[in-house]
Amino acid sequence: MSKFKGILIEKDEAGYRAALQDIDESQLPEGDVTIRVALSTLNYKDALAITGRGPVVRRFPLVPGIDLVGTVEDSTHADYKAGDRVLLNGWGVGEVHWGGLAQMARLKGDWLVPLPAQFTPQQAMAIGTAGYTAMLCVLALERHGVTPDKGEILVTGAAGGVGSVAVSVLSKLGYSVVGVTGRPEEADYVKELGAAEVLDREAFSSPGKPLARERWAGAVDVVGSHTLANVCASTKYRGVVTACGLAGGMDFPSSVAPFILRGVTLAGVDSVMCPRADRLVAWQRLGTDLDISKLNLITNQIGLAEAIPMATQMLDGKLRGRVVVDVN
Ligand code: NDP
Repeated sequence: MSKFKGILIEKDEAGYRAALQDIDESQLPEGDVTIRVALSTLNYKDALAITGRGPVVRRFPLVPGIDLVGTVEDSTHADYKAGDRVLLNGWGVGEVHWGGLAQMARLKGDWLVPLPAQFTPQQAMAIGTAGYTAMLCVLALERHGVTPDKGEILVTGAAGGVGSVAVSVLSKLGYSVVGVTGRPEEADYVKELGAAEVLDREAFSSPGKPLARERWAGAVDVVGSHTLANVCASTKYRGVVTACGLAGGMDFPSSVAPFILRGVTLAGVDSVMCPRADRLVAWQRLGTDLDISKLNLITNQIGLAEAIPMATQMLDGKLRGRVVVDVN
């Protein structure tokens, strides 16, 4: 039986740990499609899984990695045959099912989508779950009627993965984007992605008033906690806030004031269990509304072994943009 390299997370009497290991193919879980993985990524959730800082992993041992792109090696699923190039984001992969941070994966074919023709495997992973989630936020803003003429759109965590793609897509669509970052040294990067203005995270991270001066027509928030509360409080009459992240905390210390006095909409965004039809729309829109040349600016590529130390750096808010992992 042949072996492949992968990050394995284990939890037992010896503690919680993640290490690069040689894994026997017979250990792969059940599934109807076996994939030779080319690339994976490091998302915030992967970083929580690898470090054990958040309760992401719900089955041990587990290979993390909520994204992958690769080639089908073997399939009993009607839609896929050996040689097909496929993409996976979410569905609990890297949480309860073995994920992409390994050279081989075995998954349910129903979770896969064919690699969109507009993207190379590298580009698809540069976008990854973070980028596809950013697009789900943009689609939610559009669904609730936020058009570029309505006013400024705020993007928090703007130098991170979701934030970088959100700034890029919104600016290409003609919105006036204001980015929020805790790293002044990344302000020029956020502007290069398309932000008209960059604000300091400090202005949002402390407890604020239930209502503040109305400024935002819409927002993409990856931070949660006081930041999300302050964003809602400063959103304009009938504006829309999309909430997808918890980088600053899982709590939401807000009041109902923005919702009942200004008709603000808080739209939750989840990428993990997002129905297939919506995923296909998001990936198709990324093909038309993301300036592919920006991906070079957004992306760093690393090897499998580096993903473990990089996970800590990611949770410490030290990484910029997206991290693609070459598993081979
Ligand atoms: P990254 O680590 O790439 O980016 C997060 C950014 O948030 C950081 O770069 C930083 O931006 C900012 N940030 C970090 N810590 C804090 C803090 N304490 N207070 C305020 N801002 C902070 O992560 P991702 O972009 O991959 O993910 C962002 C969030 O979105 C995560 O919480 C993740 O779990 C969530 N997410 C949710 C999904 C869903 O389906 N709902 C899918 C994908 C992600 P800066 O330095 O610019 O301030």
